[in-house]
Amino acid sequence: MLKFLKQVGDYTKEAFQAGKYIGQGLSVTFDHMRRRPITVQYPYEKLILSERFRGRIHFEFDKCISCEVCVRVCPINLPVVDWEFNKESKKKQLKHYSIDFGVCIFCGNCVEYCPTNCLSMTEEYELSTYDRHELNYDSVALGRLPYKVTNDPMVTPLREFAYLPKGVTDPHDLPAGSRRSGLRPEEILDKEPKA
Ligand code: SF4
Ligand code: SF4
Repeated sequence: MLKFLKQVGDYTKEAFQAGKYIGQGLSVTFDHMRRRPITVQYPYEKLILSERFRGRIHFEFDKCISCEVCVRVCPINLPVVDWEFNKESKKKQLKHYSIDFGVCIFCGNCVEYCPTNCLSMTEEYELSTYDRHELNYDSVALGRLPYKVTNDPMVTPLREFAYLPKGVTDPHDLPAGSRRSGLRPEEILDKEPKA
């Protein structure tokens, strides 16, 4: 009889514990139901990237003076600057320029140091190919400007979720002037104690 009662007691204890764990699991599920969605229905929806996003590099052939600063500041000496010395004008003449994005780490050093600003970082990140050699962009490919997310009629652009105002879960059709929940970079700097 005592053995039976002990078995009933153990069973009841385990049933309570199982109920407790199910409750804990469901509390996480219900908590997520109140959170803002973080899913982007790519490729039908795309995020508008930050202004400082470092995507595929854009190159302006006519502005390049073949100084090779971009090669020297690149951590892997990646840009290939192919030039000839023009004896008549006594200047370097650019023949070809290429960057292999299969190797580039998108650090932006070349863009930062180029003296003529002929390099810039674009918002293009969709660079996948079946053959990595196709990632070696020549000056023609580098000169192409990417299609902006906001101009693409096939895509619904979404504001970055971090920039949504507090309590807003749907990033579409936000009223003009709505403020994001977090602090802006300049506000964070203002809060820091002055040295
Ligand atoms: S640093 Fe700029 S101007 Fe100089 S070679 Fe590179 S891309 Fe051309
Ligand atoms: S972004 Fe960085 S790694 Fe890529 S080419 Fe420029 S300097 Fe080199």
